[in-house]
Amino acid sequence: MISPKYVNTITDEKLEEKLFQRENVSALEDLLNSTRKEYQVLREAQRRRKRVSSRKVTRQDELESVFNEVKECVDEYLGFHFKDRPICSFSKLRDYPDPVARKTTRSFYATGTSGLLVSGIDFTINPLVFSASIVVLGIAAYNHLAIRRSRRYYCDLDKIIVRKDEYQTMLPVLAHEYAHAVQRRFPPLRSLWNFCQNFIEGHARGVQRHVAKSYWEREDNPGFMDFTVREDTRELHLAYRLLCDRFSQQPHKTLVKGLPKETLGQRLYRRTKGKVDPHILGNAIMLLHEAQHGAGIYRDMLHGHYAF
Ligand SMILES: [Zn+2]
Repeated sequence: MISPKYVNTITDEKLEEKLFQRENVSALEDLLNSTRKEYQVLREAQRRRKRVSSRKVTRQDELESVFNEVKECVDEYLGFHFKDRPICSFSKLRDYPDPVARKTTRSFYATGTSGLLVSGIDFTINPLVFSASIVVLGIAAYNHLAIRRSRRYYCDLDKIIVRKDEYQTMLPVLAHEYAHAVQRRFPPLRSLWNFCQNFIEGHARGVQRHVAKSYWEREDNPGFMDFTVREDTRELHLAYRLLCDRFSQQPHKTLVKGLPKETLGQRLYRRTKGKVDPHILGNAIMLLHEAQHGAGIYRDMLHGHYAF
């Protein structure tokens, strides 16, 4: 059982303090150097695969068995076998857990459709109502697409939602979201949801990486690493730039050239919340620790054996 005292030692501020050390600039460069090479090799392999084969998307009737596979792999890795399990489904408007997003999208669809009917579905009869209705329907469709593309674990509902993806991407994504469900099952760690998202997201990235690597080795297919290596490279790259900024250093141009940049979601998070996406800081912290102490750290953290 993890002691609450241990959990109190893990806060966003403390982890960030550990990350923003001058010596970590060169440590991140070393990590980025190897991840970058892996990223380039996999990207080239991915291009070749896309040319020769069509990708297999996980279907609704396959999701349950894919999730069971992932759960078994993660439980074994972390050394716990929970009988109760989260609900896992594809993200749909009908049962999307965020009621505000669900209701807003529905009302936009309803308003846009009624407007179109009022305009007689003819631009020439009432151009203003017709145009406004098209705009409103466009917003509804955009929100709907964002809902269908979301991937998330809802802690209060103990529910995982994922987008339809190819099997090789679905596995590591489910591992990440299921890692959150495991964290929730440790009451002291559950409290970290409120004040240490860096830990929560960094830990989930570590579990995701383990599952991706396991399947790569097991199936002899590097495609299982595509998604994870891309995100690791992006997040290390962004963390490296943050550290360079903090210590007024110029990032090495050859090191960062061609690397994945900040996503729209990460930019919005930074602008609306005024802080850096916890996947970026959390993953960088965990990768630094993993490089020093090995991949067993994620299990130790759940047992309360790991000191940052
Ligand atoms: Zn997460």
